[in-house]
Parts: sequence; structure tokens; C-alpha cells
Amino acid sequence: MTRSAASPRPAPLPREARSVTGRVAQAEMRAANMGLLLRHLRAHGGRSRAQLAHETGLSKATTSSLIAALADRGLVREGEVVRGGSVGRPGQTVTLDGSTVTAVGVELSVDYIAVTAVTLSGTVVRESVTPLDVAHLGINTVLDRTATTLVRTLTSLRESGVDVVGITVAPPGIIDYDTGTLRFAPNLGWRSVPLVAELTGRLGPGTPPIRLENDAKLAALAEYDHLARDGVRDLLYLSGEVGVGAGIIADGRLVRGWSGFSGEVGHLPLDPSMSPCNCGRRGCWELVVGLAAFLALAADEGDPLRDPGRALEDRLLTLAERAAAEDPRTLVALATITERLAEGLGILVDVLNPRMIVLGGYYAYFGDQVLPPLAEALAARRMDEGSATLLATSESGFMSTARGGALLALGDVFDDPTLVAAGD
Ligand SMILES: [Zn+2]
Repeated sequence: MTRSAASPRPAPLPREARSVTGRVAQAEMRAANMGLLLRHLRAHGGRSRAQLAHETGLSKATTSSLIAALADRGLVREGEVVRGGSVGRPGQTVTLDGSTVTAVGVELSVDYIAVTAVTLSGTVVRESVTPLDVAHLGINTVLDRTATTLVRTLTSLRESGVDVVGITVAPPGIIDYDTGTLRFAPNLGWRSVPLVAELTGRLGPGTPPIRLENDAKLAALAEYDHLARDGVRDLLYLSGEVGVGAGIIADGRLVRGWSGFSGEVGHLPLDPSMSPCNCGRRGCWELVVGLAAFLALAADEGDPLRDPGRALEDRLLTLAERAAAEDPRTLVALATITERLAEGLGILVDVLNPRMIVLGGYYAYFGDQVLPPLAEALAARRMDEGSATLLATSESGFMSTARGGALLALGDVFDDPTLVAAGD
């Protein structure tokens, strides 16, 4: 219950207990209601105090006091004067601000590090992708490089007067959330790496809190952030990198599974050749639909297109140009991948009944070639016309995961805006 109006009155406590518990409860209620206002502004855009009070059920006096507290933290600002309907005084529009509050998302992929910083209002203020052959460098080298990239980003944000409230790191593997450890990354061969402790140690004192989250789950959050405004509540995001994983949003909530293993769909047994996979199983789907499979089909060994030292985006743009120019080898490679994609997605659609499937990673570069035949294949399997699934490619491509990481960390401020210190 976050609304102060119309809450049921509990039985009275003894006097002393009442004063302490009362103050704590009041502060918690206030923080929760500030969060309610902030989330309302994010979802519905700028509006007057009167409108905010009306729509959230908070009293006008409470709303005014909370807006003042939010403005004091730089989280909202009041702007142009609007008339609130036919009666009442004109009011100022309150809008989400938070231009000095950011969070950072980092994706540690098999062959690059992507870093982004996003403000509370969703503006991307820093973004970088560094090619890095993570799979072949030692863990310490990778951690050192990640820390260096992070320090550069944090320093430049602080120098421009921006606070960083949190950092989310997405490693390509299975996470132990309680200890901040990467338990197993099949495509790196890493086991039990205490990533949070290692990075916090390298970044030194004053480091914002670091958390870990799975890459595909974060990308799903980033896509859901804008799709939810179009009414999508059930989303399947498929990451297309060396590893293939799914981020699942069901009825508006991210599905993690009891130990965070949900969405490891790249290891479904769908490769008819039953080749061995890095995960220890045989016949995994990502062996036939992952980035390595596509590059092997599209270019010969020794071709610069298969060189992990070169920027992946440049290599994919070259292949996208070839596809657009109807280069037969590229088109055959994409048709093969699409056929295999349809087999796995057909199963996932039956299990999850998503309203929308978003293809990320390298798939996002080949929407014109992949989406139409994929839609056709899924439609051919459909048992009922009413259950059609929409298909799209990700608009933020390889940045989805890092953006989702920043959004996840910013979620803390939307839950409790008092995490940001009031006016200095
Ligand atoms: Zn596998």
C-alpha cells in the first residue's frame, strides 16, 4: 500500500513504540509515495500537480510536498504553466528530470565490452563498445580492461557533475546473485569468478554499488522499457551473439527462474548434428543459430570477417551490405540460420505464448532477410489465428544489454528516490 489516502487505520501502539515506529513508517511511506510519483511521470509524461494528485490518489498537499522533495533532489522540474481543465487555477507542468542522476550498464561479451550511462529520464549520455577477444584473454586482463573502461566512464560523468547511482555488469554466463559471482560462462570456460568483489576492488573506494545480471534478461528489460508503452506485456527477447539466450517478460515481469537459469535456450538440443557444445552437452541450438555459426556459413576461415580482433559492428555492416546487394553466399547463410531459428522459436512460442519476439544481437542487422521467412514459418505452425506473435528486431542492437543494465540500476531510484541526496 503506497497511497496515503484511504489507508485502513491499524490498532494504536503504546506511546514510545508509536513515536519511533511512526517516524520510520512515515519516512518509508514518504519515500514510497515519492517513487509512485516518479514512476507515474515516467509512464505518462509531464503533468500538473493537480493532475498527479488526482491520478495517483495522493492528496494535493502531500503531492505538493513530495514534488518539492523530488525537485530538491533534481529528479523532477517544474516548467510551463498549464490550465488543468475548465476549473481551478493554472498549474505548472511537473516533468521527470534526473539529468544529473545516471546509472551505468556494462556488457562483458565474448568479443567486446559495451558500456553505457543512462540518465533517470532515459537519455543515453555515454556509450562505447570496445572489441576485446575476451574468450582468449586471461580473466585478470579482462577484469583490468573492464575496470579501466569503467573508471574512464565514471570519471568523465563525475567531471560533468553527474551522479552514478549504480552499475550493472552482464557477464555471458550463469550468475550467483547472492554472492555476485559468475558461476559458469560456457563460451569463456570461466568458473566461479567473484566479479563484483574483483571489480569493486579494482575501482576503489566510492564505487557505486555493482550488481550482476544476465545479458539476455537485461536486453529484454531494455526492449520492454519502450514496448510496454505500446501495451506489450509478454515478450521474448532472443540474444544473437556467440551464445544465444532468451530474456522472458511474462505479464510485465522479468522471469528469472528459482536460481536465475531461465532463458538458457541456446542449449536446447536442436542441432541435428549433435556436435559437442562448450556447455558440456551435445546438439545445442546456439551451435546452429549463434554468431559463430553464421560467420562460418558466410565467410571462409582466415577471412577478416571472422577475426574477433576487428569491431563486430563493422564486420556485420559489411555482411548487411552484402545481403542487401543479394550476395548469394550471404543470403544462403541467412536462410539456413532462419530455418534453424524457426525450429527453436516455434517451440518457445508454444511454451511461452509471447505477444512479441524481439531478435537482438547480430540478428538485428538482417531484419529484412530474417523476419519475413521467420514470420511465415511461425504462422504455418499456428493452431489458432488469434494467438499470432509479433516479430521485430532490436533497435538498440548490441547496446540493449548495457542499456538494460543501466535501467535496472536506475530502478532503485524509482523505488526509493531518497537514495539520491537532497540539494547540495
Ligand atoms: Zn550448450
